[in-house]
Amino acid sequence: IVSVAGLNKWFGDFHVLRDIDLLVGRGQRIVICGPSGSGKSTLIRCINALEEFQEGRITIDGIELGPNLRRVDDIRRDVGMVFQSFNLFPHLTVLENCTLAPIWVRHMPKKDADAAAMKYLERVRIPDKANAYPGQLSGGQQQRVAIARALTMTPKVMLFDEPTSALDPEMVKEVLDTMVDLAGEGMTMLVVTHEMGFAKEVASRVVFMDAGQIIEANTPDQFFANPQHARTKLFLSQIL
Ligand code: ATP
Ligand code: MG
Repeated sequence: IVSVAGLNKWFGDFHVLRDIDLLVGRGQRIVICGPSGSGKSTLIRCINALEEFQEGRITIDGIELGPNLRRVDDIRRDVGMVFQSFNLFPHLTVLENCTLAPIWVRHMPKKDADAAAMKYLERVRIPDKANAYPGQLSGGQQQRVAIARALTMTPKVMLFDEPTSALDPEMVKEVLDTMVDLAGEGMTMLVVTHEMGFAKEVASRVVFMDAGQIIEANTPDQFFANPQHARTKLFLSQIL
């Protein structure tokens, strides 16, 4: 459902993504890991049309996003994104955060948008916080609202960029549990994370990036038991 082919991107003179090829089948869950600065966020942001690129092709469910053919709105409609810093609107309630896009982008009647949002808030197990403001929630709760908000647009693919790395340790699990639930429901997911337990549990494939390249991609079993490249081994020895 997601195809990245021959993707190259530069920031000025800096070659940040080098010949990236990545295929994600419907319902697959890809975990992307790698050292800081290797280009993980940039890759995710290209897939969500938040960054331009110079060469290559990205296709999402048949919609092509080339360097010169930019169907940004079509792509964003199909792709949900969850960031490290939850990015909720502080002056809107949890429910209002979740209904903003359905009402304004999808032109959904408010009553239907409210009902749909409540359904997703139940799925992330915080329906009781619907009328609270983000500042009144813990980090883990805010991140679960951010997940619910992305789901209200019924995306075909969900992208996560280090969704738990801004959280206190005791809140990491509740967010990972929500993501495991989502995986169990068959959601197609691309997840940048260093939570290797999550990778072992749900990943269809683990992709290791370094210096703008995909160095190695394998099933979690193979990836952790039998890493092929010296750089992968070094990385795993540092984080495991
Ligand atoms: P981290 O694990 O720290 O989040 P990352 O793998 O997500 O790292 P990116 O954020 O994709 O890395 O950044 C890749 C490289 O591109 C870094 O060297 C970064 O400094 C550079 N970079 C990122 N954004 C820009 C930008 N807007 N302009 C110039 N350089 C940038
Ligand atoms: Mg990053």
